[in-house]
Amino acid sequence: MSTPEIVIPASLLPADGRFGCGPSKVRPEAVEALASVGRTWLGTSHRQRPVLDEVGRLRTDLRTLFGLPEGYEVVLGNGGSTVFWDVATFGLIERRSQHCVFGEFSSKFAAASAEAPHLEAPSIVRSEPGTRPVPVADDDVDLYALTHNETSTGVMMPVVRPRHPDGRAASGLVAVDATSGAGALPVEPADFDAYYFAPQKVFASDGGLWIALLSPAAVERVGAIKASGRWQPASLDLSIALDNSRKDQTYNTPALATIFLMRQQVAWLLDNGGLSWSAARSAESARIVYDWAAASDYATPFVADPAHRSTVVATIDLDDRVDAQEVSRVLRANGIVDTDAYRKLGRNQLRIGLFPAIEPADVAAFTRCVDFVVAALG
Ligand SMILES: *Cc1c(COP(=O)(O)O)cnc(C)c1O
Repeated sequence: MSTPEIVIPASLLPADGRFGCGPSKVRPEAVEALASVGRTWLGTSHRQRPVLDEVGRLRTDLRTLFGLPEGYEVVLGNGGSTVFWDVATFGLIERRSQHCVFGEFSSKFAAASAEAPHLEAPSIVRSEPGTRPVPVADDDVDLYALTHNETSTGVMMPVVRPRHPDGRAASGLVAVDATSGAGALPVEPADFDAYYFAPQKVFASDGGLWIALLSPAAVERVGAIKASGRWQPASLDLSIALDNSRKDQTYNTPALATIFLMRQQVAWLLDNGGLSWSAARSAESARIVYDWAAASDYATPFVADPAHRSTVVATIDLDDRVDAQEVSRVLRANGIVDTDAYRKLGRNQLRIGLFPAIEPADVAAFTRCVDFVVAALG
């Protein structure tokens, strides 16, 4: 190991230096629990009772965490949220979608549906990075694509059904990319039809899986598209994923460690008080980091409107006198990792995850470490 040229005093350092937005900090207790079942869990069949039962418990715990009413389904498949965009393009969008685009992730789903030969050109409601768009009710749209938290910019958006000017709720399905918000942002099942995410952010596990909470209307849409005879690759076919999930399975082999670690995290969230507890914990971390930036003479929250600032991913601009990449490099050399801005955003910025696994006290320590590094860089 080489000695960093700027050494942050141990008394300032956080207990855990992982501040990435995904993969994000996995709680050591969950890793220990995995190690303790290593011989009976890892390397065993995903079609046998122990794994089926654990998938079943994970599905039940997610129902509890999100307060899902009767008729909602918890569906799992391989490939992460990016693959779910393709799944939705085949199995949830009937003819034409509308996409609220306000950063890199929301633009990718819009691109997937725009390129699909079986769909009409989508409606796009765009806003500048750092702001958020408002969906527009449109009778010609059968699915509204929202993003609960735009991880590339640190802007969060409320999950609400679009309404026509006369107050009538839009008839299309509401599909929400909640990859970095699910489990730490408030949401009501009545407000969505598909709420999908992956385990490597709030759920403090590894990547590679997608999880979708589907309303009865979404389940009906899946059946109708299947019945229409539209060609869908089997691995992206939501009706096949739904059939398998109802039997606590996935269509093909999942990563068993990912499932185990995710269930550890969901159980931990429930033990501590559930969604309201985790949302409050992330909001506390957010208050610490935004208050620090507001008081700093070189740091500013990137998102101008305080109500739009994410409580799960903070983006902090540094002024031109300070090189954010250099700050992140020194932090990394001191064990504080993954604080870099989203590369394509191209700003002089630090970005950190505020997920519930991260201690608010460590977020406070992070701000003190940044102050120390900036002073040392002079
Ligand atoms: C991380 C992220 C994704 C991509 O997730 P993968 O599991 O890597 O495909 C998509 N959307 C949002 C909002 C994200 O934060």
